[in-house]
Amino acid sequence: MSLETQTVYQPWMPRTQSRAVTGLLTGHNTLKRHLYLLGLLDSPLCRKCGLREETSAHILCECEALASLRHAYLGSFLLEPEDVKRLGMGAIWNFSTVTGLA
Ligand SMILES: [Zn+2]
Repeated sequence: MSLETQTVYQPWMPRTQSRAVTGLLTGHNTLKRHLYLLGLLDSPLCRKCGLREETSAHILCECEALASLRHAYLGSFLLEPEDVKRLGMGAIWNFSTVTGLA
């Protein structure tokens, strides 16, 4: 088995990536709403669009400023929360990395 094949079929990801993806899915992360609730920021508004609270659902599903990246990395310009359940952790990791939110 080649390294490339092993990489493609690895059922796990490094801990830092797994932690980042889990944080994004659960909302316990560095997104602004979470930091705002902890009293660490003055505003919970999205750093990308400035229109809505920066939550996991907003980032993964609906932020218009991320629509093109969402389409490229997650397969759709807009997602429903149910759609997120079908995404692979690798896809979510790649999306969070290119958006600068990892
Ligand atoms: Zn936004």
